[in-house]
Amino acid sequence: MPRSLRVMSFLLSVLLMFLFIWLLGFVLDDIGDLQGPDWNAVLAEHEDPALRARAQELASTIAEIQWRVSRQEQLQQEQRRSMDNARGTMQQMMELQRLSLEQGAPPSEVEKDALAQAQQRFLDAQESYETANAEIAAANETVYRLSQEQKAVADTLEQQEDPARDDFNAQLRAHRLQVASWKLAFIVPLFLLAAWLFSRHRGSAYRSILLAALAATFWKVGGVMFDHFPREYFKYIAIVAAIVIVLAFLVWLLRKAARPGRDLLLTRYREAYRGHVCPVCAYPIARGPLRFAVWTRKGPRSGGNGNEVLSAQDAAADAPYACPSCGTSLFSTCGNCSSLRHTLLPYCEHCGDERAEEPIGAVS
Ligand SMILES: [Zn+2]
Ligand SMILES: [Zn+2]
Repeated sequence: MPRSLRVMSFLLSVLLMFLFIWLLGFVLDDIGDLQGPDWNAVLAEHEDPALRARAQELASTIAEIQWRVSRQEQLQQEQRRSMDNARGTMQQMMELQRLSLEQGAPPSEVEKDALAQAQQRFLDAQESYETANAEIAAANETVYRLSQEQKAVADTLEQQEDPARDDFNAQLRAHRLQVASWKLAFIVPLFLLAAWLFSRHRGSAYRSILLAALAATFWKVGGVMFDHFPREYFKYIAIVAAIVIVLAFLVWLLRKAARPGRDLLLTRYREAYRGHVCPVCAYPIARGPLRFAVWTRKGPRSGGNGNEVLSAQDAAADAPYACPSCGTSLFSTCGNCSSLRHTLLPYCEHCGDERAEEPIGAVS
């Protein structure tokens, strides 16, 4: 595959993984929206409804009385203003009368009336003011009494709230556990399916799609565990998973280093057969016409004038052959066509039959 195509397919696979993560996130969010316990409903089961009604009644009564008190205080301010006005008028009238008396003239009837009216207004306002004062004092007394009762009721309600809170917390825990199980029931099978598909089709051209799905589901499994398992469990789960992954990777690397892959071995065997030496111990294969050859550093060189031994050589070439040095079977009978084939190469040179088992990997 050209380099640009490889980079492109890698980027698209990463994009695909993020899209998978996104999609799984939507589904998991919808599962998380399952209806949880209702605090008000749980509370209503545990507290006395009459007491709750009384508390509300007290609160509204107190609020109404306080509203009335503030109204009375407003009226008092108005009365204080009209008292001040009346007092001012009275002082002016008295001043006028004093001036008239000094000049020897008695005050007129109009002046007398005006003074009397001002006095009356002052007295009326003062009386209203005093009445308002008394009402405010009485209302404050009532509010104090009601507040005492309100406090007692609130204390009782609070005591009844404790078991309600315990009950609610228990229901909430059960609900979270349920949500977590639903999420895991959704994501874990997907993860296992992706893992199975990936391991089955590891050699396929579409493996990067499966790898993207595997990575996305693995990521979401971790996310669900992180969200729903208590932190102290999650850290163990996470570290164990990380160790398993790293170990698997390390084992794979070590195995690859210790045992070369099939392709590498095959190349080595092929070269050895072509050079007419044992692929395992490099001892010369003295078989058929090569029986009389002399091995130089460049390979076998024909020894004698072979014509008179040709028939004997042909006969020997058809016999199974094992390396005289290490005992590895190098030529054996084909199970399919009964001709002689290269034991360590995958195909029979006569019938093209592919060996079912792997003789290559068996030699270490
Ligand atoms: Zn050998
Ligand atoms: Zn064959």
